[in-house]
Amino acid sequence: MSLQPLDYIYILSLFLFAVSLKMMSEVRSSRFGNVAAIAGMVIAVTSTYFAFPVQRTDLLTGAVVAGIVVGTPIGLKVPMTAVPQRTAMSHAFGSLAVALVGVAEYYNRAPSVDIFTMSVLSSEIILGFLTFTGSCVAFSKLQGIIPGRPLVYAGRNVSSLATLGAAAALAAYLTLNPGQEFIVPIMSMLALLFGLLLVMGIGGADMPTVIAILNSYAGISAAALGFILDNRLLIVAGALDGSSGFILAVIMSRAMNRSFANVLFGNVGVAAKARIDVEEKRVVQAYTVDDVATVLDGSRSVVIVPGYGMAVAQAQFVVKELADILQQRGADVKYAIHPVAGRMPGHMNVLLAEAGVPYDQLWEMDRINPLFAETDVAIVVGANDVTNPAARTRPDSPLYGMPVLDVEKARTVVFIKRSMAPGFSGVENELFYMDKTMMVFGDAKKVLTELVAAVNKSRQ
Ligand code: NAP
Repeated sequence: MSLQPLDYIYILSLFLFAVSLKMMSEVRSSRFGNVAAIAGMVIAVTSTYFAFPVQRTDLLTGAVVAGIVVGTPIGLKVPMTAVPQRTAMSHAFGSLAVALVGVAEYYNRAPSVDIFTMSVLSSEIILGFLTFTGSCVAFSKLQGIIPGRPLVYAGRNVSSLATLGAAAALAAYLTLNPGQEFIVPIMSMLALLFGLLLVMGIGGADMPTVIAILNSYAGISAAALGFILDNRLLIVAGALDGSSGFILAVIMSRAMNRSFANVLFGNVGVAAKARIDVEEKRVVQAYTVDDVATVLDGSRSVVIVPGYGMAVAQAQFVVKELADILQQRGADVKYAIHPVAGRMPGHMNVLLAEAGVPYDQLWEMDRINPLFAETDVAIVVGANDVTNPAARTRPDSPLYGMPVLDVEKARTVVFIKRSMAPGFSGVENELFYMDKTMMVFGDAKKVLTELVAAVNKSRQ
């Protein structure tokens, strides 16, 4: 088989996609990785555009312009904290496009579709449609449009699996009888329903993993479409997308100590309400920034634990300022990074890198946990779930099984947050009530700015 000029261009774009994945695995090179991915996509789209005859240039150009007009402001304006739901919407639109192209290809070719093509087409249509509704539900849960808790009802798993089973049975029938055109809308409706049921049943705390799984499905369905359209670029790019989404889902499941089956069928995220009611009656002692500055005065080792609240408050710059002052005074300062702190994988690494925190000061959970026992002060900045010991001790807790940062082993624990509100999973945190805990209430940026001033004052 001799390669055509277009094949060489496709190889170049695939090379850029592979390079971008590699570069994005490191904070330092991730920006270049992004540029490589954009270049690969621009080359892929423009070369495909010019290589094939286009019947309706006006429609195609209109679609590209509409995509740019809608997509650019979203890309520029979306806050870092909303990236997971934005990613969910990308998967939703990508998989919808794949499913619709699959349906169009079927009606173009029916009834003479061979068994292989029909089996790939029907799997691709099912995967595309279920990813579409699943991603829309994931978006709505993360955006707070619908409640994050799982929709639990008797026979949930049986009805979901029966829906998928019916769609698969219809796909098998269609593969053997490709002329039965009425099957496609029914099969598509079942796939749409299955995606809805699947993700409605999963709690908000598992949404990041679900999004990675949906990413994988979207990639696999795009690869399948590549076979139908005989487009090798789409096959390989879809496979890259599918496998990287799968690997991310595995990494995240491990970080949360969960299996896929547990994520998909585990009813995770149901809040233990009775226990919360009991705990709400307890009181905590609020401290001032001056109290914390006094404690920091005599501290030799400090661990900063950033979480979602640091991202909301955009407090990463003042966090670094505080760390720099403490280091100048001879204290050892480390940052404890939980793999699912914040709202997206690598969230804390990105923010702290933005503030110029040296990479060697970031300590992953497994490395930092043994060091908390020798730490004078752990300063928890807008983190909650990732420190919650209920993950170890309360089997009835939605967090149970997730490895957490052992902050309570430090001599003093400072929590900076606005209120007693729980974190993402809705679970109360026992640590707020410990004798060694100092709660400092307020927006993280404001509190830390005042703390920096108080620490500076105590130095003079
Ligand atoms: P968290 O458990 O959601 O807690 C964040 C805390 O920050 C809240 O308790 C909140 O308390 C506080 N906060 C919010 N805004 C603040 C502000 N302006 N200033 C100060 N504090 C503020 O966050 P986390 O400990 O980082 O844990 C992450 C959670 O999100 C996990 O449950 C994880 O599974 C989930 N999740 C992770 C990802 C991911 O990929 N990383 C994606 C989606 C979900 P107040 O309201 O009282 O201030």
